[in-house]
Amino acid sequence: MNRIVKILLFGVLMTAPVAAQQSLDALIDRELVQLVTTYKMLHAAPELSHYEEKTSAYLATQLRSFGYTVTEHVGKFDRPQFSGYGVVAVMKNGDGPTVLVRADLDALPVGEKNDIPYASKVKTRNEASQEVSVMHACGHDVHVTSLIGTAKILAALKDQWHGTLILIGQPAEETVDGAKAMLADGLYTRFPRPDFVVALHDSADVEAGKIQYTPGYAMASSTSIDLTIRGLGGHGSKPESTKDPVVIAAETIIAVQTIISRENSPFDPAVVTIGSIHGGTKRNIIPDEVVLQFTVRTYKEEVRQRIIASIGRIAKGVASAAGVPEDRLPILKVIESENAPSLYNDPQLTERMAAVLGKAIGNENVIKASPLMASEDFGVLNLDHQIPSFYFWLGAIEPSRVEASKKSGKPLPSLHSSLFQPLPEPTLRTGVKAMSSVVLELMKK
Ligand SMILES: [Zn+2]
Ligand SMILES: [Zn+2]
Repeated sequence: MNRIVKILLFGVLMTAPVAAQQSLDALIDRELVQLVTTYKMLHAAPELSHYEEKTSAYLATQLRSFGYTVTEHVGKFDRPQFSGYGVVAVMKNGDGPTVLVRADLDALPVGEKNDIPYASKVKTRNEASQEVSVMHACGHDVHVTSLIGTAKILAALKDQWHGTLILIGQPAEETVDGAKAMLADGLYTRFPRPDFVVALHDSADVEAGKIQYTPGYAMASSTSIDLTIRGLGGHGSKPESTKDPVVIAAETIIAVQTIISRENSPFDPAVVTIGSIHGGTKRNIIPDEVVLQFTVRTYKEEVRQRIIASIGRIAKGVASAAGVPEDRLPILKVIESENAPSLYNDPQLTERMAAVLGKAIGNENVIKASPLMASEDFGVLNLDHQIPSFYFWLGAIEPSRVEASKKSGKPLPSLHSSLFQPLPEPTLRTGVKAMSSVVLELMKK
């Protein structure tokens, strides 16, 4: 090889990654105005979980126009009254890995209080036929728009990747039954089973332009439990002829606090919260039963199982001690449709992707974050740790607002707040660039 060829080749090799970044930036630049318009349109037209009809149709039309093979209405819910509005878009590009990217579609029953021209004014009827306002208060409109941008860019950069790319629009994340419904409807049998699953979620306390990631357990499992404490009701003036479930409920609430403090290892994070107590109708009536509603959060499945068993054991023990007969002991019901597994980011994959994100948006903008006890249903898609998965937080807040909040100590509106307000730019640019970079790394030639 002569010297000039060597120098030329060296130059090509050295500039190749830079050139790839530049072409990604140039492509995003071209799409950005349209993406911001799309975001505002979606933001103004939110749909509740299980009712994502128009959002899913729009996403499907977009993905089809970029050349993906798109299947709509994917999703079978336990409750047959709900339609599945899942979208699955597949692009086959030769041999290579299969990568699934997920965006969730649904919004929340929240009345928007932001004073912005594209604020949601949508009102609808919920499952109980009550009129509710609807808002993308969790920013899933950011996710759908980022998926559209990523889809278009990856279709344009087909020469830079190989394998099978699957993009999904998932319904009903807020009710944590959408991912399960898509799997139940053949997401991994009717369509290729992925080797990797990835997703992003916007963050209500990270600056737009930045990303946070957490290797290992990143979010907790969530288990909904109804505990019906049964007694023997009667007249409020004659407690000796009753078994008072209000008092038994009160003792049970205190007794279950020892599950975390005395039965659980301090190295296994877990939460037991009772968010609702219902019992009784009138001051002078001792009711027949009281219902406690629990949410239990854990990372490990064995910890989850042990806590559920402990709640049952303690509730029965307290009721027995109060003299409740065998046939009136408490009933513990796990609400399976509301459960979500923990979210586990494959540590090796996560560190590798964090390095890729650092190259794409600058190392100073990619921050390792602590795990949360909040939950979401993305964890369903990794089939109990069988498929390596990576989920990251996309900063979405105007940087000056983050700074002001840090200075004043006044927290910013959280996700699900009527005042949550993502900054479309550079949130969308960062989302599209980050997700495109992740997929290009996983599927590179
Ligand atoms: Zn949410
Ligand atoms: Zn969300």
